[in-house]
Order: sequence, then structure tokens, then C-alpha cells
Amino acid sequence: MTEVMSKISIEKISQSKITEVDFNNIVFGKQFSDHMFVADYKDGKWSDFKILPFGKIEVSPACAALHYGQAVFEGMKAYKNEQNEVLLFRPLDNAKRLNISAKRLCMPEIPEDIFMEGLTQLIKLDSEWVPKTEGSSLYIRPYMFASEQLLGVRPADEYKFIIFTAPVNSYYAEPVNVKIETSYSRATEGGVGYAKAAGNYAAALYPAKLGQDAGYQQLIWTDSVNHEYIEESGTMNVMFHIGDKLITPNLDFKTTLAGITRNSVLTLAKDLGITVEERRVSVTEVINAAKEGVLKDVFGTGTAATIAQVASITFKDDKYVLPKIEERELSNKLAKMLQEIKHEKIEDKYSWIHKI
Ligand SMILES: *Cc1c(COP(=O)(O)O)cnc(C)c1O
Repeated sequence: MTEVMSKISIEKISQSKITEVDFNNIVFGKQFSDHMFVADYKDGKWSDFKILPFGKIEVSPACAALHYGQAVFEGMKAYKNEQNEVLLFRPLDNAKRLNISAKRLCMPEIPEDIFMEGLTQLIKLDSEWVPKTEGSSLYIRPYMFASEQLLGVRPADEYKFIIFTAPVNSYYAEPVNVKIETSYSRATEGGVGYAKAAGNYAAALYPAKLGQDAGYQQLIWTDSVNHEYIEESGTMNVMFHIGDKLITPNLDFKTTLAGITRNSVLTLAKDLGITVEERRVSVTEVINAAKEGVLKDVFGTGTAATIAQVASITFKDDKYVLPKIEERELSNKLAKMLQEIKHEKIEDKYSWIHKI
């Protein structure tokens, strides 16, 4: 750790932009914190660790990521507790997952200590940017891309790893109307569905737009072979509360991303005495449960919204409306527990919190 730390050069911004931010009305994705962390991969190793004022970076027009898509990312958040200390939620899991994604895209791994030290130094320097208000947080975007000028198709030899951050207000997700997608696919077996690859998002935009134009805020993705089994909802994992069980697609087919929120929710649900099943979930099972009145809840899980409840599910021409939000005891409870753990209001029995 200390060795990495001593290697990070820090160039501070001359004047902080924080006075320009109204923390009660943050414009999502338009306001960024003062600094960013940058590391370069060259000659087979990571070096040149630096913290700089947030700003433009120069890349060649022949930058490999722009043509062949070697680009992976992460998404995580920093919170504050009552004492104004800055807290991260399971950050090492993001570091590990970034490397799983990098490996699949034939990119170099970033050593966990560099990821953690760059992140820690950056958040320390910009700790004023972590909102204090309940529910608000500092969104953190670590990512890596092939920066080499390259035309031939091969894994690049040069990469950049960057972390920048942006304050975000509490994200209240209006329950969404979703459609079960039966033409397009997000992922295929043998593909890159389990990686947080930039291209997965690009490929999902068009079907998502068609869905939105038809009145559905999200798509429920199904398997690419027969569109018979459910995989994810939009860019979130998806869970079904059927009878007294919480059921979610398993990860064995590598078409579903291993969400950190997913894992946390399943852990907490088990603690509450709920039977949790990770297995294939067929469209038929969900629709039959809805018809029989035992589909109590459907919700997405992910860092951005934590838990996003689904208002209705449409399959082919039939729309199934889910129970009122107040009746969704389990997901309401899980959302509250996670929120309280993230702000150190209740016991963190799994040591998920990492204090900066
Ligand atoms: C990031 C992501 C998730 C959620 O992961 P978290 O670690 O919970 O934020 C789920 N599905 C996809 C496709 C994702 O990219």
C-alpha cells in the first residue's frame, strides 16, 4: 500500500468548483468533483499514478477502444455517516469485478492495491464532495480502456485506468413498467454478459429505446436461445417474490452480471428468514404466479437505485399489474436495511463498509 501511495503524484485544482454546486438540486451527470485518478499501462506494467484536476484527456483518433471496444467500467458510491466520515460499500468487490471484466476483454488486470489506493486518495482529497444529506451520495466511476493507437485487430498494449466522481441526489425510482423482451438479447452464453463491458450498454440502447417508445421504461432480458428464461431487468439484476420465496436468476450461464447489490440483498433476505433460490426463472413461472395472485413483488437491484420496484410486467399482449408499493414489505424492508448499513445506522455484520 504505502509503496503505491508514495508513487501517486497529486496536482490540486487551483480553485474548487464545489461552491457552484447546489447539493439539494444536483444535476445528475453534469457536475463532477474536482479531481480524478489516472494510471497508465505501458510496457507490460501499470505506472504514472496521478491525481489531477478533473478535465479533458487527450487520445489518438486511432485509440483502440474507440474502434474495437476494449473498455470496461465499474459503478460504486461513497456515503457519509453521522460523524461525517466517508464510507464505501464493498469497494474491493468492485475492484475484483473490474478485473473479471478486463480479463474477458483481454485487457490487463489492475492490481487491487492500486485500485484501492487511487480510490482512497481521490476520495480523501474530494471528501467535501460526498453529500451529507440522507440518501445522497458520491457516485464513483472507475474504468479502463485501450488507449494505444492501433489499426490491426489484436489486444492493445497500452491502457488507461481512470476514476472520477460525481455527487448524486437521493435516487427515488418511480416504479417502472417493464416488458419481457422476446426478440433482442442482452447477452449470450459464451459472450460477455457477465462483464461490465461498455459494449453491452451500447448494444442494449436500441431495444431499450423501442421499449420506451412503446411505453415501457425497462426491458426484462431473456435468454438468447428461446427467450424462455429471465436474465436481468434493464441494467439491473432482477428478483421475484413469489409466495414466501425470493427467486432470482443464477449466474452459472455467465449471461447475468454478478451484482454486488444482488449479493447483498440475497444475504440480507436469508437473514430475515426468507427462502432464497438462485436458479433458472422461466417467463412461464412468473406469468403463472402473476395469474394465480402469488407474485408479490418484482424488483431490480443495482448501485444506482439500490432497489427499483416494478409496477407492471407485460408479456406479449398481456399486462400484469403488481401489488401497491406499500404492500411490498420485503423489498421495502431490504431497501431500508441497505440504506441504513451504507450510512452506518445499523450494524454492519458482514463488514461491507470500508471507511476512508
Ligand atoms: C452494474 C450492473 C448491475 C448491478 O451491479 P451492482 O454491483 O449491484 O451495481 C446489474 N446488471 C448489469 C448488466 C450491470 O451492468
